[in-house]
Amino acid sequence: MDYMKTSATTQTSVPSIRTPLPGPRARALIEADERFTSPSYTRVYPLAVKRGEGAVIEDLDGNLFLDFTAGIAVCATGHCHPRVVAAVREQAGKLLHMSGTDFYYEPQAELARKLAEIFPAASVPDAQSVRVASPPGSASRRVFFTNSGAEAVEAAFKLARWNTKRKRIIAFYGAFHGRTMGALSLTASKTGQRRGFGPFVPEVTHIDYPDPYRTPDGADPLATLDHLERQLFARAFPPEEVAAVFVEPIQGEGGYIVPPPEFHRRLKSLCEKHGILYVADEVQTGMGRTGKMFALEHWGVEPDILCLAKGIASGLPLGAIVARGDIMDWPPGSHASTFGGNPLSCVAAIETIRLIEEELMANSAAIGDHLLSELRALAGRHAIIGDVRGKGLMIGVELVRDRETKERATTERNDVVQRCFRKGLLLLGCGENSIRLCPPLVIDRAQADTAIRILDEALSELAAAAA
Ligand code: PLP
Repeated sequence: MDYMKTSATTQTSVPSIRTPLPGPRARALIEADERFTSPSYTRVYPLAVKRGEGAVIEDLDGNLFLDFTAGIAVCATGHCHPRVVAAVREQAGKLLHMSGTDFYYEPQAELARKLAEIFPAASVPDAQSVRVASPPGSASRRVFFTNSGAEAVEAAFKLARWNTKRKRIIAFYGAFHGRTMGALSLTASKTGQRRGFGPFVPEVTHIDYPDPYRTPDGADPLATLDHLERQLFARAFPPEEVAAVFVEPIQGEGGYIVPPPEFHRRLKSLCEKHGILYVADEVQTGMGRTGKMFALEHWGVEPDILCLAKGIASGLPLGAIVARGDIMDWPPGSHASTFGGNPLSCVAAIETIRLIEEELMANSAAIGDHLLSELRALAGRHAIIGDVRGKGLMIGVELVRDRETKERATTERNDVVQRCFRKGLLLLGCGENSIRLCPPLVIDRAQADTAIRILDEALSELAAAAA
């Protein structure tokens, strides 16, 4: 991206690691931080950030890292995109807060109109573009603003119960929907996230998420939908008690699992058959991350309620749910948030969406395809890579000890993430044994190739250490 060519951080080659990690300044900050912050935080490696630009992070000691985390899939437009920064600066001089639930201001109204307009419509799967500038129904779509993904899920949970007057919710094993009590009741990713926090919101039932890689040969990954229909709906509870199914189009925290192509269409038609709302949690998959504005566009499925956050405002706190007006039919006072739809976050989101539409969605698709094919080539050299999957710049690499048994290589995955950090590539894990690649959508081919080279080196070192 052009704006990065002028920057100091990108004139030097990246990564550039000049000190032992953590360096002295980072070490001092980490000590000070850990004295007072919650021990529940999970810092996987000692990165103390000074600033970010594009896909580059500079730490307190002047080390430069290539960021393939985007602050957990958030900084869609890269760190501190000048257009986003300019929009936030301008807004900061005009109005910081006035609570959009009680009063009116332009950025919130404009963003609501834009989100209603880009809401994913039902279409032919994988069509070039499934959104039109002003789809016929956009005027009837409505938006509720929150500060985070979990709050968006909470809002969707309440709206689904309100609208259907039904109580029960279906969610998936491996799902991550957030950590507030309602959202946590839907989350079933790792027991450590739930241990000690129950009882949860009642009447939530989890079913298997279809995982093509881990479905035994000859078995059908979509058997989970038959289980829902033939077992649960027939024997455990009637479908007319179910308000909604919450689903991630691609399972995120659970391992970057891409379901089989027919999954979302079959799930949606099952929902339609029983009057169940189909709630798409696109908190992680949305906003251009998968090479389309919303991941559901890969399968041409229109959700009843769409949950958004993370990449929506390039790092400023914002979440939203979007639904048709006949679904978002709750009365004044039934749900609200003091900070949701904050003016700074809204202008950041408006600029973020412009950038995604102008170039970043296409960049995500193109660089994502390049990364996928390079990673598949890497799998030819490293037997520990069991599976490479993803769409756009949401890519998972699953490590296994044995390709036949698919035994999970969890300690090896953790080791690779640490080795990459020490070489200047920032990565995160997902699931029990996968590496997630979710860089800012501004990365270029050279940066993608650098990441592949470093991952290759780390995997070779791991193999050498085991030999
Ligand atoms: N939903 C999904 C799919 C997520 O990946 C996350 C966070 O990782 C959330 C919800 C929760 O978002 P937040 O951490 O902003 O509450």
